[in-house]
Amino acid sequence: MQIAGQKCKICDKVILMASDATWCARCKTTVHIECLTDRQGVCPVCAKPLDRPEQHFYYSKFCSVCGARNTPPKSNCSNCGNATQWDSEEEYVAFRCHVMASSRSQMFIGLVQIGFGLLVVMGYLLALGLLLQSGRWFVSGLVIFAVIYLLGRGGKNFWNGWCMRSFE
Ligand SMILES: [Zn+2]
Ligand SMILES: [Zn+2]
Ligand SMILES: [Zn+2]
Repeated sequence: MQIAGQKCKICDKVILMASDATWCARCKTTVHIECLTDRQGVCPVCAKPLDRPEQHFYYSKFCSVCGARNTPPKSNCSNCGNATQWDSEEEYVAFRCHVMASSRSQMFIGLVQIGFGLLVVMGYLLALGLLLQSGRWFVSGLVIFAVIYLLGRGGKNFWNGWCMRSFE
């Protein structure tokens, strides 16, 4: 949750540093840690002990960007700095759904490109067969380039999507 820039519900001042503040996981009220201590840790909205967000934090096992392992769990990836912490398991699950959806579309795009590449190969072989019969055949650089491009691109997209599937 973005807490810098929000108002503290206890002293009504704007929170400047996220590290000086916390929030109630139950009602999403933001407060200064110092103000909360002055009120014996009671949430100003719930009038109950503040539901500490740290208890709900959820960490992904891997980094969603570079795939590095996130053990022991940290809030950011030790390899690339990408966020690996969510405010709750629900938010993590929603994010994971999003990753899986883009993984599927990446793999689909990759397969379509590979399919087109193979289609070009087949079309070219067919044309080559006909040309060979007439004794005038040639190798088109453009076709080779298109095939390498399509297969390379498709393979890369498919592989990216495949790797994303293992995100958890
Ligand atoms: Zn305050
Ligand atoms: Zn509360
Ligand atoms: Zn990373």
